[in-house]
Amino acid sequence: MDDLSVTAPAHQIERIFDMVVAPLKGTAVTEGSLTPREEIIAAYEWAPGRCYRCGTKVDRTAVVGRLVQPTAKIPVRACENCTVRLERSRELAAERYGWPYSPGAL
Ligand SMILES: [Zn+2]
Repeated sequence: MDDLSVTAPAHQIERIFDMVVAPLKGTAVTEGSLTPREEIIAAYEWAPGRCYRCGTKVDRTAVVGRLVQPTAKIPVRACENCTVRLERSRELAAERYGWPYSPGAL
């Protein structure tokens, strides 16, 4: 891990590391290379709901996917912190594989 540099808000580092950074060992990730949290937040519409990832019921959740059922598509919502974590995962994967990235496309 000595070749890995990570700078992110403390509450995000643990999950980012488990989900994304560990598989990217060897890739330098710096604060400046990640989309600011505020920019990610601004890319979504927020409404009260329950986060599918952490289970908390909060005033601000965003639709981050849809569960396809035979008769309907049920929106899947995530809280701010989980939405940012999901976006960080997507951004880091995009950086690794050279894919285009912009927030708001979960
Ligand atoms: Zn959550």
